[in-house]
Amino acid sequence: MDLTVISTYRCNSRCQMCYIWQNPTVQKEEVSVETLAKLPSGFDNLNISGGEPTLRRDLAEIVDVLYPKARVTEISSNGLHPERLVPIVERYPNIKVRFSLEGLEATNNAIRGEKDGFQTKLRGMRMLKEAGGTDLGFAIVIQDENADQLVRVYELAKAENLELSTSTLHNAWQFYKNDNYFYDRRKVAREVERLITAMLRTGKVKNWFRAYLNLGLIEKILGHDRLIPCTAARDFAFIDPWADVWACNVRSDLLLGNLARQSWDEIMSGEPARRAAAKVDQCRQNCWMVTTARTAMRSSLHPSLPKLSPLAWVVWNKLKVSLGGRIDFARYIDYDNVRPSPLIPRKSFLGENVKAYVKVQKGLETPAEHYPLGEFFNR
Ligand code: SF4
Repeated sequence: MDLTVISTYRCNSRCQMCYIWQNPTVQKEEVSVETLAKLPSGFDNLNISGGEPTLRRDLAEIVDVLYPKARVTEISSNGLHPERLVPIVERYPNIKVRFSLEGLEATNNAIRGEKDGFQTKLRGMRMLKEAGGTDLGFAIVIQDENADQLVRVYELAKAENLELSTSTLHNAWQFYKNDNYFYDRRKVAREVERLITAMLRTGKVKNWFRAYLNLGLIEKILGHDRLIPCTAARDFAFIDPWADVWACNVRSDLLLGNLARQSWDEIMSGEPARRAAAKVDQCRQNCWMVTTARTAMRSSLHPSLPKLSPLAWVVWNKLKVSLGGRIDFARYIDYDNVRPSPLIPRKSFLGENVKAYVKVQKGLETPAEHYPLGEFFNR
C-alpha cells in the first residue's frame, strides 16, 4: 500500500494552480511525530509532502520515524530550502527527493510565484547529489503555460542525471482549488505525446513505464475516463495535517478516520473504509495523479511488477520507437471526443504582495471546516 503524509499546509511558494499557501495550518496543530509513529511498517511508497515539508522543523525526525516503514520513502518539496534536506540525504542516500519545477526559468517562477525558484532548485539538486543522493529529480504539473516546455524540461533533467515525474492540473481538497481547467485540452495533450516519445527513446525501463503514465495523463487532460480503475482506500491513502486519513486527496467524502484518535488497523478495517472503497468502485472522477495512477498500474503479484495491459503497451511501443516508427496515438486516444470545460483564467502571483490572501486555519476542527469548498470535481 502507498501512503502520502501531507505534513503541513504551510508553503513558501505562491502557485497559481494550488492554493495551499492561502490556507496555511498552524504549526502546533500539525500531525505530530508521535502520531506518525503509530503507522505500521510495510508500506510500498511513502511520500512526505505538503504544503512544503521543509518548513516543518521536525522533518528529520519525521523521516527517522517513517523511513523504516516503507520500501521507498519520498520527500516532495518545492526545493526552496535544499540545505534543510542535505543532512537527511546524507543519512538516507536512497531517499527519493522530488523538487517541483514548472518549466524553464521564467515559466517556473511565474507559475509558482517564486522569485529565484528555478536557480535555487537547480543548485539545490546539485547540492543533494554532492550529499550522496541517488534518487533525485523534478516533478512538473503539466498545464497550458508550460506544456510546450515539457520535452525541454525533460532534457534538462536528463542532462543533470535527474528524474522527471509528471502530473497535471487537478481539482482536489489537497490544493484548495476547484477551478483548475485547461484552456486548450488538445494542444496540451499533443505536447504530452512528444514527451511520451522522448521517454520511450531512452534506454531506461523506468522511463518507458513513465511514458504509459503520461498516456493516462492525456486521457485526463482530454476529460476521458481513467485507463485503469482506481484502487483508493485499498492500495493508497492520504493523511492530512490534522491526522485525518482519506482514501484520496480529491474527494472530500472519503474520510476513513483519524490517526491521532485511532489505530491504523481500526481505521483501515472500519466501516468508513469499507464504505469509501465501495464509493471508489463507482467513482467517475476524471483523475490521474501519479500516486493513484502508479498504484493502479501495479500487478497484484508484486508491487514492482506492472499489470499486463501497461506492459503490453510499453513493449509494443518501445519496439516501434526503437525501429524508427511513430506511436499511433490515434489508436489509443479518442481526440474527437474532448470534454468541454469552463475557461477560468489562472493568475501568476509572482511579485504580488500576497500576505493579504493568506488566511491561517486556526482552531478549526472538522474536515468540513478545514475544506470549506466542500466537493471537488475533475471532469
Ligand atoms: S478515481 Fe475517484 S476515488 Fe480514485 S483517486 Fe480519483 S477521485 Fe479519488
